[in-house]
Amino acid sequence: MSEDVEFIICNNCETPCYSFELDRKGNVATAYCALCGADEAKDFRLPEAEDVEDQG
Ligand SMILES: [Zn+2]
Repeated sequence: MSEDVEFIICNNCETPCYSFELDRKGNVATAYCALCGADEAKDFRLPEAEDVEDQG
């Protein structure tokens, strides 16, 4: 039961990033933020429910 991750969040600029790869455990393996240039996995996090759902 794995959920597809459409994007991850850059911890530096809180921007959704679509250029990334996940490892088999679902953790961020590689990623790149085009906005701030972050390119280390630790700089990113998986989106949480509050990031995905519209808080409207
Ligand atoms: Zn960034």
